[in-house]
Amino acid sequence: MANSEFDTIAAISTPAGEGGISIIRISGSDALQVANQLVKDRDLTKVASHTINYGHIIDPETQEEVDEVMVSVMLAPKTYTKEDVVEINCHGGLLATNRTLQLVLSHGARLAEPGEFTKRAFLNGRLDLSQAEAVMDLIRAKTDQSMQVALNQLDGDLSRLIKKLRQDILDVLAQVEVNIDYPEYDAVEEMTSQMLKEKATEVRQHLVALLQSAKQGKVLRDGLATAIIGRPNVGKSSLLNTLLHEDKAIVTSVAGTTRDVIEEYVNVNGVPLRLIDTAGIRKTDDQVEKIGVERSRQALNAADLVLLLIDASRELTGEDQQLLTATEKKSRIVILNKTDLPTKVDANQLKAMLGDTPLIKTSITDHTGVDQLGETIAHLFFNQGIESHQGDVMVTNARHIGLLHQAKEALDDVLKGLADGMPVDLVQIDMTRCWDLLGEITGDSYQDELLDQLFSQFCLGK
Ligand code: GDP
Ligand code: ZN
Repeated sequence: MANSEFDTIAAISTPAGEGGISIIRISGSDALQVANQLVKDRDLTKVASHTINYGHIIDPETQEEVDEVMVSVMLAPKTYTKEDVVEINCHGGLLATNRTLQLVLSHGARLAEPGEFTKRAFLNGRLDLSQAEAVMDLIRAKTDQSMQVALNQLDGDLSRLIKKLRQDILDVLAQVEVNIDYPEYDAVEEMTSQMLKEKATEVRQHLVALLQSAKQGKVLRDGLATAIIGRPNVGKSSLLNTLLHEDKAIVTSVAGTTRDVIEEYVNVNGVPLRLIDTAGIRKTDDQVEKIGVERSRQALNAADLVLLLIDASRELTGEDQQLLTATEKKSRIVILNKTDLPTKVDANQLKAMLGDTPLIKTSITDHTGVDQLGETIAHLFFNQGIESHQGDVMVTNARHIGLLHQAKEALDDVLKGLADGMPVDLVQIDMTRCWDLLGEITGDSYQDELLDQLFSQFCLGK
């Protein structure tokens, strides 16, 4: 697709209000010309591509100086969008950046829609669809781990696998097509069915593995829903504050729709935790001894992981027992807190009650056991509950997951059809559907391409 088909777009491409430098990105065939009208002391049309140039932004109407800038000039096609790209690094703070953007917009560029630079990279053939989506995920990534998944995807891991699976399917379909031309041979029909069955089974296994990875992928992106529970005064708020404080890279505190719901994200040993019902925990402090089992139960239902605190300096109460029972089936860690005080809970007895559940002894006030808690959480997440897929292809995108499900169903139909002795040319339709659906993940076109390929491979000279 030629650059000229697109108008020139611009936007601030650094997060609003952060850092000393903001970058305005301009992309399109007029990018250079737009910027050149605004930059004093440099003729940008004369500078070499992929250079950074010092200069000043001036308002051409008033000759007023707006900002001191560095201007990157990158000519097509070796740019993010494959179009001419100019990036203006503004130094003068938010106000100057906004004024500069306004000037860019009043001199030939239009404000880019969200994701439009990436969309262009896709339309101009630089990224395929799953890679473009990976960029979106990257922007939203909350932890190092999810960043890595998005980076792998951007790198094309998923695309490569999907493309390989599609090619495998295509080879079989082509073979089927050839064999259908010789219906007089029963042996050929037999062979074709066998081939379809083997390939469908094999591809299906890959899809199932990808769908399994999706579960962990989702967690990496959204955080592991974690409930901190325990009866009043065991140290829930203290633990919450410790976790929040430890995490040097807290990403967000999102206020939900109801005033009460606050979700906080922390990164514990590489595991993103989404702490649920933290408002409930904070409220406890004002209401002294009021919030009990009922509230905890609600948080429990929504939780992927439960951190259940028990006060080591008090005898186990009925309330502790109820919470232990209520969490039996959950992925949980029991934390015996306040171990700095004289102990009234028999840790061995508790351990015997817990079976496989990890028991961690802490003193949150003395900061002992907190590191071990982090390690235990990471161990649960990466080695047990959900396996680690580090380095493997991982699917995190809802659209991809949906398509993978449908593709798997198409293969189920293939296998069922074959088992029921359906004619091969009908079974072939489901196999083709699987191929189409996988193609939608990478944004490849379907039917026509299938026909073209079949034609070029097998119908030559016929
Ligand atoms: P919550 O009601 O479960 O949220 O409990 P808090 O976190 O509000 O703690 C209740 C009280 O126990 C506070 O005075 C804390 O300082 C104290 N506390 C929390 N953890 C420990 C601990 O490990 N050792 C001791 N000695 N006191 C603790
Ligand atoms: Zn509290």
